[in-house]
Amino acid sequence: MTATVEMIIGEEKVQARSGATFDVINPATEQVQATAPEADQADVDRAVDQARKAFDEGPWPKMTPGERGRLLYRYTELIERENDALGRLDTEDMGKPITHSTQHDAPAAADFIRFCAGLCDKLRGSQIPYGASKHIYLLREPVGVVAGILPWNFPLVMAAQKVGPALACGNVIILKPAEQSPRSAVLLGELALEAGIPPGVVNVVTGQGATGAVLVSHPKVDKISFTGSTEVGRSIMHAAAEQIRKVTLELGGKTANIVCADADVDAALAATAFTCSYNSGQICTTGSRLVIHRKLHDGFLDELTSRLGKLKVGDPLESDTKLGPLVSREQHEKVRGYVEVGSRQYTPIVCGNGASAQDRGYYVDPTIFDHVDPDAQIAQEEIFGPVLSVIDFDDEREAIEIANRTSYGLAAALWTNDLSQAHRMAAAIDSSFVWINCTNFWGPSIPYEGHRQSGVGVDMGVELYESYTKIKNVIIDLDNTPNPWATS
Ligand code: ADP
Repeated sequence: MTATVEMIIGEEKVQARSGATFDVINPATEQVQATAPEADQADVDRAVDQARKAFDEGPWPKMTPGERGRLLYRYTELIERENDALGRLDTEDMGKPITHSTQHDAPAAADFIRFCAGLCDKLRGSQIPYGASKHIYLLREPVGVVAGILPWNFPLVMAAQKVGPALACGNVIILKPAEQSPRSAVLLGELALEAGIPPGVVNVVTGQGATGAVLVSHPKVDKISFTGSTEVGRSIMHAAAEQIRKVTLELGGKTANIVCADADVDAALAATAFTCSYNSGQICTTGSRLVIHRKLHDGFLDELTSRLGKLKVGDPLESDTKLGPLVSREQHEKVRGYVEVGSRQYTPIVCGNGASAQDRGYYVDPTIFDHVDPDAQIAQEEIFGPVLSVIDFDDEREAIEIANRTSYGLAAALWTNDLSQAHRMAAAIDSSFVWINCTNFWGPSIPYEGHRQSGVGVDMGVELYESYTKIKNVIIDLDNTPNPWATS
C-alpha cells in the first residue's frame, strides 16, 4: 500500500497548498512506497511564519534551559518507543539493512537528542576581565530560525543531528529531508509535538532540491545547517552569501584507510571490509581508499576479496543482509558510471554474490580496483557506493602525502602498532577525524567539523554551541574611565 506523507507546519499536518506531490521509491523493489507533498514558496512561507512566531513570540526561547532539557528528554523516550517504526521507514525509503536502521541508526538518533537534552542547562556565556573600569559579560544567544537540509544516507540520524543542537541552544528549526527519504523526519516532527515541544519549534517541509533552495534563500531564516554533497553545499553557501547568513556545512569525503607494515592485519582486514561497504558505501566517511604498505598488499587483498564476497547483498528487510540497494536509480547510475570509468584503466574485482544482476532493485556488488594511481578519477572523487580504490605505498611520508592528496579533509584511519608513527601521522594528516586502529567511530560528544572542501562549522560535541548561538557582549561602565581608543 502506498503511504501518504504529510508535512508538519506549526501544529498542523498538511499537504502542499498547490496539492503537488512526488513519489518516494523503495530502492529494493523500485515500487512507489509513498507520496509526499512537494512544498513550494507558499508552503515554505507558511513554515517560516510558524517558526518565526514560535521563536519571536512563543514560549520556547523564554523557557529555562532546564525546562527545555526536560522536554528533550521526553522526546528521547518517544524516539526510543518508536525505534522500530523509525528504522523501518528509513529501510523502506532508502534501502539500508533493517538491522542497521533499527539497531544502529534509531538508537543513535535517540542518543544524539539525549546528549543535547543534557547540554541545555550546561551552555553558558562568560565574563571578560577588564580591570575595575568595566563589567563585561558575553551572552550566547540562539540564532533564531534554523533551516536543516538533510541527506538520504542517514535520514533519521541526520535529522536528530540537526534538531538536537538547534533546540539545545534555544532555536527553532525547519527540516527539509531528502526527497528519497522524507518519512523518518516527518515522524520525528510528530514526536516533537507529542513530547510537548511547542508547535512551530520543529517543522518539517518535504520536497525536492527546489524546495530546499526556496528555504535556504528565505529572508526570514537565520541559519542554514546542511549535510550532503559538496556540490549542493557550494550552492547553499552561495545562497547564504546573498543574505550574509550563518551556515554549517557537512560535506563529502574520500577517506584514506591506511594499513602500515606493522599493522594488526586481522583487525585492519575486518575494519576495511566494514568501512568500504557499510551502508553500501553511502557515507561521507566511507573508507573508499585503501592505502596499503606494499609488503602487505597481496595477502591482504586476497583475504579482503574473500571477506567482501561473503557479505550478503540483498533484501534490506532480511536480518542477515549486510548491503542493501543503493538509494535510487540516479545513484545506481552514478556508481555504475564510476565502475565503468575505473574499468577503462583497471580490471575490476567484483566481490558480491551477484546481487547486482537481480532483475529489480538498485544493487551494486562491492567492487575493488587495484594498484590505482592516487590521482585517478575514482581515487579522487566521492563515489558514494561500495567501490574501493587500492593504492600502494612504501613509506610513511608517501602514505601521508596520498592521504592528503584530495580536495576533502573529513577522515582518515590508520593501522599501526608503532605509537610514535601513529602520532606523527595523525599530526600530518589534514582531516577532521584520524582514527587509529579503529574506524568510523563517532558519537554525540565528538564534534564534527570537515576540513577543506568537507565542510564549514561544527555539528555535535559541546562545541556545537559555536554554530548554533550568536555572541552578544554587554559592556557596563563602572568608573567613567574614558575609552582609550576613542578620540574626543
Ligand atoms: P545527492 O545529490 O547525493 O542526492 P544532495 O547533496 O544533492 O544529495 O542533497 C541533499 C539535500 O539537499 C536534499 O535534501 C536535497 O533535496 C537538497 N538540495 C538539493 N539541491 C538543493 C539546493 N540547490 N538548495 C537547497 N537544498 C538542495
